[in-house]
This record gives sequence, C-alpha cells and structure tokens, in this order.
Amino acid sequence: MVSKICLETIDAISHNFGCLVFVRSRLTMSYLIFVTGGVMSSLGKGIAASSIGALLQARGFSIRMKKLDPYINVDPGTMSPFKHGEVFVMEDGCEADLDFGHYERFTGITCLASDSMTTGRIYETVLNKERRGDYLGSDIQVIPHITTEIKDFITAGSNDVDFTICEIGGTVGDIEGLPYIEALRQLSIELGKAKTICVHLTFIPFVKTAGELKTKPTQYSVKLLQSMGGQPDILLCRSEFELTDDVKSKLSMFCNIKKNNVITALDADSIYLIPEQHHVAGLDRQICAHFGIQQDCESDVNGIISTTWGSLQRSIVSPKSLVKIAAVGKYTKLKDAYISLTQALIHGGIANDSTVEIDWIDSEKPFEQISDTLDKVSGILVPGGFSSRGIDGKLFAIQYAREKNIPFLGICLGMQLAVIEACRNVVGIKTATSREFDDDGTFVIDFMGKWTSGSITETRIKGGNKGGTMRLGSQRCRVSPDSLAYRIYGTSDISERHRHRYEINIAEHREMFDKAGIVFSGMSYDGTLPEILERKDHNFFVATQAHPEFKSTPFAPHPLFAAFVRAALSLKR
Ligand code: GLN
Repeated sequence: MVSKICLETIDAISHNFGCLVFVRSRLTMSYLIFVTGGVMSSLGKGIAASSIGALLQARGFSIRMKKLDPYINVDPGTMSPFKHGEVFVMEDGCEADLDFGHYERFTGITCLASDSMTTGRIYETVLNKERRGDYLGSDIQVIPHITTEIKDFITAGSNDVDFTICEIGGTVGDIEGLPYIEALRQLSIELGKAKTICVHLTFIPFVKTAGELKTKPTQYSVKLLQSMGGQPDILLCRSEFELTDDVKSKLSMFCNIKKNNVITALDADSIYLIPEQHHVAGLDRQICAHFGIQQDCESDVNGIISTTWGSLQRSIVSPKSLVKIAAVGKYTKLKDAYISLTQALIHGGIANDSTVEIDWIDSEKPFEQISDTLDKVSGILVPGGFSSRGIDGKLFAIQYAREKNIPFLGICLGMQLAVIEACRNVVGIKTATSREFDDDGTFVIDFMGKWTSGSITETRIKGGNKGGTMRLGSQRCRVSPDSLAYRIYGTSDISERHRHRYEINIAEHREMFDKAGIVFSGMSYDGTLPEILERKDHNFFVATQAHPEFKSTPFAPHPLFAAFVRAALSLKR
C-alpha cells in the first residue's frame, strides 16, 4: 500500500532551469508535502503548491505535483467553465483541474493523468474492485477502502522524485473532503512527520474599524483540522499586511505550530512574484528544516531565485510598453475560465518586454458594443469554446480583424470560426457552418469519425460518452516551410495539445477554402486534418486547431503568443 522506503543515492540533479546543478546528500523515498486550505476558497492553494514546487526545484530537488479533488465528478472534463473555470489538458490527454496549469507553468514539469484524482474516480476504482470480488466479500467502507485508495494514489511513484507535493482541493470542513483529511492523518502516522508535512493555507483578514489583523478564522480552521486528527506544520497566511510578531505568537500558541513556521503570504500584484516572496518569508527553508534537510547553499539558493523569479519580476513590474488585446468569448464573466490563455498572453508580453492588457468581450453583446472595443485594441483573439451560443459575436470579430488587417489569433473554435467566416463572407456561401451548431447547412466543419495518431487509428462515435468523443492531448503536426507558422515555430515538426470533437472538412471543401484565401500551413502528421491556418492577404492572421496556451510558461513563452503580441505591438492604429 504505502510505497516501500528505498535508499538511493543521487549525487547530482539538474535544476529545472537547465543551468544549475547541486550536489546533495542521500535521500530515501519522496518527502510528502500536503497542501490544505482553510477559512475560505480562492486563497490560491494551487499557486502556493506550485510555488513550493518551484522553490524546491531551485534548491536542486526533483518534484512531482499531484492533486486530489474532492468533488464527485469522475474528471473535470464535463464541468462547465462558467462554474468551475478552465479544463486543463495534459500531454497525455487527461482533462484536469486548472491548478495543473499552475503546476506546469511554475515548475516546467509535465503532469500526467496519474497525478490527478477525484472522489468520483476513487469510488469508481473501489466499486470496480468490489464487482471483481477483490475485497473477498468484505463490506466496503470509507475507512479503510476509500482511504487506502487515496493513500495509494498519493504515494504511487514517489520513489522517483525527492518531493511529492499533493494539494487537497476544497476547504477544510467540506463534507466531501473528510476521507482525504483522514488519509493524510493515516499517512503521517504510517510514515511519520520525518517524511510528511502539512502546509495549511489560510486567511488573516484585516478589520479596518479595529485596525487589526484577525487570527480567529484561522484558529477555527486549524481546530477543525485538529478535530479530524490533522495538524498543520506550517501555516501559510494570506494577508494584506505583514504579520506582526504578536500575531505570529498568537497563531503559534493557539494553532500548536512553531512560530517560525507561521509565514506571511502577502497579496501580490502578479502570481509570478509569489515564489520569491515565499522564499524571502522562509517557506522553503522551513520545509527543509522540518525534514532535517541541511543545505550549505542558502546564498546560492538566494542567487538562483533572484536570477530566475527575480528577473521575471523586473519584466512584470517595469515593462517597456503596453499593448491592448481583445479576447472575444462567452465565458468572460469568470476569470478562471480562460486562465491558461490569460497566462499565455502575459508570457507573450514578457517575451516582448510588454504588459498585455486584455479586454474581455462577451461575444453575446450587440455588434456595435463589440466594435467599439475592437476599435481600441491592437490584437484580436478568439479562444476555444463549445456550442453555438455567442458565435455570431465571434464571427463578427474575426471579420473585423480580417478586413481591417488587425493581428488575429484563433484558438480551436476560433480556427473553425475563421474558416466559416471566410467561406460565408469571402466566397459567399452563407450556409457554411459546423455540425456542432446546425443540423442543416454546408458543413465546412464536421464530425470526423477517424484519425491516426502515430501508428494508432483512433475513432469517435457520434453521441457517445461525452468525455470519450474528443481528440485529446498531444498531437504531432507538420508545418509547411515557407509559412508564417514555420517562421514562428522555427521547425516543421511540432506537437500541441488538443481538445475538440469537430474538424475542418478539407476532404470535401478544399476548393472553397482555396477561394476563401485560407492557407493550411500545418497539417496533422498523417496529412488528413488541418492544424494551422493563415492568410497571405493579412499581416498576422493565424489560427490553430490546438490549444498552445497549455504549453506556455513564463520562462518559455509560447512562440505563437510571443509572435501575436509582437505583431500587435507593431500595429499602428
Ligand atoms: N467546439 C469545438 C469542437 O468540439 C471546438 C472545441 C474547442 O475550442 N476546444 O471541435
């Protein structure tokens, strides 16, 4: 059940940023870091976990990031972006919680389906085992069957890395979260505190009328955790102001935590300022101290963090220019619905020493309102999406970008709509549409039952299980030399992550696409499916069937986003 402790000596490991190598001492199996959240949601547990991962990497350790989501869904693939935020797509096609995007962006690691778990999936596994008779007729209970499954998930593969950082979704006290806290309690008994640590992210409100930071909500949250047998080792306290010595002493005493382990997590202007701030506040140092890890390289670590995260800070806080980009979508009311896209645009800004200001336009707004905003921006982006709702506003924005020569980037649905727009307005085929929107029409975007990925032929069945009909995960694409896409990527062999059901129907409508002035500069590796589209009659009109935003990081901005921001910066309006 719990991974065996194996002794291994790793003399040197390379740091994530490529250039830094540390020599460190003998380690046994992975140290487990649990990240829980108290008081309320939206405090940024995902960012805190990512920041811990990044800081440990800067110390030369290898890490793995995992997340347990207590909701009952089997995976987040069918959850609405309106309610839950973006569905993040991993290399292997796993549809995961958006926090995985933060993990990958902060640490540069590639997460896998085996790093993500939900209550629905745990029950599914346990029930399948029960049906197979694996439990030999026992009655199935939360303890031990569900908790064992949770512990197995947490410890799986932990011999391969130095630290496993495991975030528990939700807030302590949520009814769905109980088995998870119980599993953490059991693991910290089985492995001992020498191998496990609980970092509890909490909130310290500042009450203006009293002029004071208040510790009571945190005290209650820790008491709740203690009543379930949990005990935080580090309190990471989100706060508008630095915690005073008195506040730290109080939290230390009432929450049963060493004073040095009560750490301020100040509100920050950018999420990328957080790792350095956590480091200065002592978070990674205290984690290492908890495990008795001694490193004689504190000044090297400070140097590494300041040359990596610190350099980011300079380009975020004092960039040379500002550029406005409009993003026309239908999930604009929830900030998290387009989180990877927002981050990829920010990264594109970092690549150009520029701040990107995003004007989110609700595509269901009247055309005049959309047009008023488009008049003020230097780039137009149409993101991915599902169903026909709001597509008229997106088509309007694409036509605007095409006719006025405004830099345009279309993502997934944005590419499909760029095809429909050109067929309707350049060629004059007003019935051009997607099978996703209409039962009748000229289906320039259609449902394709089959495609090949490497040596595998994959099939989709129309109307099949919602989670199972999509082209998902990393897919290779050939980029034509002599195209803008080639100049941007600098290579003809690329791979990007996908998440869509419909495809451009090039088999039936190639002639119409030629007339529409569309050039498919990227095709799937088997040559059958268009992957990248561009227009020769435009300065920068690029669209992709994939989701490049999932692969962009602040240290390696995605070339498409960097090029799009560059084109927007050079537009004279
Ligand atoms: N709805 C479109 C499809 O399923 C596009 C999906 C997307 O933008 N991710 O093909």
